[in-house]
Amino acid sequence: MHFPIDRTLTPRLDMMAVQRGTLSNVPSDHMAVAEYANGQWLKARIQPYRPIPISPYSIVLHYAQTVFEGMKAYRGADGVIRIFRWEKHHARLLKSLARMCMPDVPADLFRGGVFGLAGVDSDWVPPGPPAAYYLRPFVFGSEEHVGLKPADEYMFMVLGAPFRAAYKGKLKIKVERDYSRAAPGGTGFAKCGGNYAGVMLPTKIAHSEGYDQVLWTDALTHSTVEEIGTTNVAFVIKGALVTPPLGNTILDGVTRDSVLTLARDMGVEVHERSIEVAEIVSGLKDGSVTEGLGFGTAASVVPMGMIAVDGVQYEFPDSPDGIATAVRAKLDGIRYGTLADTYKWMTVVEPE
Ligand SMILES: *Cc1c(COP(=O)(O)O)cnc(C)c1O
Repeated sequence: MHFPIDRTLTPRLDMMAVQRGTLSNVPSDHMAVAEYANGQWLKARIQPYRPIPISPYSIVLHYAQTVFEGMKAYRGADGVIRIFRWEKHHARLLKSLARMCMPDVPADLFRGGVFGLAGVDSDWVPPGPPAAYYLRPFVFGSEEHVGLKPADEYMFMVLGAPFRAAYKGKLKIKVERDYSRAAPGGTGFAKCGGNYAGVMLPTKIAHSEGYDQVLWTDALTHSTVEEIGTTNVAFVIKGALVTPPLGNTILDGVTRDSVLTLARDMGVEVHERSIEVAEIVSGLKDGSVTEGLGFGTAASVVPMGMIAVDGVQYEFPDSPDGIATAVRAKLDGIRYGTLADTYKWMTVVEPE
């Protein structure tokens, strides 16, 4: 679907800042919008980025009926812009929407919004690595209604912003033993707004204690590993890459799937199985755990430097030639067009 374009008359683009990579987390000039009413998506368009009017009684504001995606467009060494695995992001959006009682966003609408925006704002896509253009598709219940029920009206929007990697250096991780992110039967697998409001306090506490992020453990026993902040997690144990299996408490990361695929094809043994916190502690002591990795769209692949369990800190050994480095190099190569896209993960953006 091609979104009609209403171009901004007051572009804010500072090309020099984009080139230098200093422009980060600033909304680009346009946004994609579509509205849902009477069972149909209508009025799909690209328009200048600006605030939108919304009723104070919009269902989203009170009951968090909203889901989002986070994906990136990469400017290759050849100058071509490519988006990473848009179909997989769309498939996950559908799962999140279903969990929140929200209508499907059809693939052609999703694709039209994401590629239309990246095409119109293509000059905002910085050269990398590690810089890229972050795309934020989201859907929310916009209907004005007093009381709790699924909305009958929604908005689908796509925003974009040039973006540099969120994490610098090695992660200092706090294993969370009190708070929970997601419980069995809850919404942990959905990329829905409420999941993120709930993690702000425990994350703030971890920051105040000097840690970069929280490692979430299972809500019932706080003894097995789930994920880190907004990234999935894996450890290298006896040379194998081990990550918790997907279930309804863990977000099905597109980066996770990509990392596991690349690792397997590089000949690394990969296990999806439950991991005890105690196993990481004893493995760091006896040398069988050699790496900890966090991975997500925002951060790409980041190594852990230290992990704290009940206030005791354990260091990871230095592994500059480890699996994290190798997988990250492969991912970057595919994303920035310097390695063959053998998995057909990249789709070219046509500038508009
Ligand atoms: C988005 C997200 C991830 C990472 O998913 P990607 O598709 O790799 O970006 C992991 N955990 C949580 C909680 C997330 O919100």
